[in-house]
Amino acid sequence: MGDVEVVTPRDPGYGRVRHVYSATGRPARVLLPRDTEQTARALETARSFDEPFAIRSGGHGISSIATNDGGTVVDLRHLDRVERLGGTRVALGPGARWGAVAQELYGWGLALTSGDSGDVGVGGLATTGGIGLLGRAQGLTIDRMRAVELVAADGRVVRASEDEHPDLFWAVRGAGANVGIVTRFEFDAGQTPDVARASLAFKLGDPVSFLAHWGRTVEAAPREVSAFLYVGPGSRPFAQATVVFAGDDVDRTQRALAPFTALPWLVGGRAELVPYPAVPLTSGAPHSGQQAAVMHTALVEHLDEELAGLIAGALASGGAQMIQVRSTGGAVNDVDPDATAYAHRHQNFSVTAVADRPGAAFDAAWEPLRARRDGIYLSFESNHRPEDVDAAFPPATLARLRATKRDWDPDDVFSQNFDVGRR
Ligand SMILES: Cc1cc2nc3c(=O)[nH]c(=O)nc-3n(C[C@H](O)[C@H](O)[C@H](O)COP(=O)(O)OP(=O)(O)OC[C@H]3O[C@@H](n4cnc5c(N)ncnc54)[C@H](O)[C@@H]3O)c2cc1C
Repeated sequence: MGDVEVVTPRDPGYGRVRHVYSATGRPARVLLPRDTEQTARALETARSFDEPFAIRSGGHGISSIATNDGGTVVDLRHLDRVERLGGTRVALGPGARWGAVAQELYGWGLALTSGDSGDVGVGGLATTGGIGLLGRAQGLTIDRMRAVELVAADGRVVRASEDEHPDLFWAVRGAGANVGIVTRFEFDAGQTPDVARASLAFKLGDPVSFLAHWGRTVEAAPREVSAFLYVGPGSRPFAQATVVFAGDDVDRTQRALAPFTALPWLVGGRAELVPYPAVPLTSGAPHSGQQAAVMHTALVEHLDEELAGLIAGALASGGAQMIQVRSTGGAVNDVDPDATAYAHRHQNFSVTAVADRPGAAFDAAWEPLRARRDGIYLSFESNHRPEDVDAAFPPATLARLRATKRDWDPDDVFSQNFDVGRR
């Protein structure tokens, strides 16, 4: 088994492990387990110090909780294996990054929806949801999950699936960080390794009308289409979009993309057939707190005129630097809301505002949209207030989650990420 590798501020490798993508940190020690048993021992060590501790997989969490000052970090980067178990079944380590996962799966003729960044880690995304560019075709990433192995709060190593500890398996799929450290995931991947990707640019003289048209176009598209829109600031904003068709049939692709390229605000773009690994953008840059962004987020059913007006207003106010509109819907909404701890199964869009620092102007710009939210996706919200936990989980889901948390983590060891154990 060997000892768990420990890196402290005195060690030469400290600079490589102290920070995350969105924050700098100065932890007292970073523990780097190499397998599940070592992860259990790392958790025991972390708990033996009366200090904060953090769990880290890819270090891309936007709420910056995967590092700290003066505490312990359990960093799972070495648990990064990607294995084929047979057929479409694959096993992923939490420390693998989605770009590397896409590459490996492509060799097997498979693709698994994740998100727009290939640098994001498997562990953080797959314990929360996974709104991705194959999402309307495949569902959320958690919808393809079939089993996990995790280290529970008391150090036990547990396998959870529909047949083994189904309560735990339910909780992992949406609130995983509350109930354990997942050391291995099993998924059923999809079989569309080649896709069509359109990159489109729009100039928005009239952002309200554009956004409402965008919403209708996405909802009317066949479910092979997933679309992410990024809208810039100002009263006459610009927008860029990535639209992916999950398949490589040229005629069907052209028919599916035509309503997007026909939008009169279009000023440029290209569409091409690409291997799916070309979709999640990957830089591989070491972490230095390089992207200290803050985010507020809302799930919504439709991008109607009123909501489009609120988005346009937030951008015109100057308080938000970007608004991202990601499609959910399609296969995501085929799933019963009670089937996973992520219970939002009628919404068609995730709307997220981004700013480079927290502040009153950003909060004020967001407030009208916050009032319209119909649930939130935890991974796009920087706040961890009780009202955000309430927004993330409908009352019956939250009650069930708290009961599961009491069974598996009665001392609230895993309190770092949207703690449902508080109160
Ligand atoms: C540039 C960028 C683009 C993104 N795009 C998308 C997108 O398109 N779709 C989408 O769904 N999300 C997206 N995200 C959000 C992303 O899914 C979350 O931030 C996710 O938490 C990152 O995972 P990580 O392993 O890199 O994070 P980390 O920072 O390593 O972890 C974040 C937290 O997750 C929990 N956690 C991590 N690993 C485990 C584990 N093994 N077991 C239990 N809990 C764990 C811990 O509480 C940890 O503190 C994006 C984020 C960024 C920064």
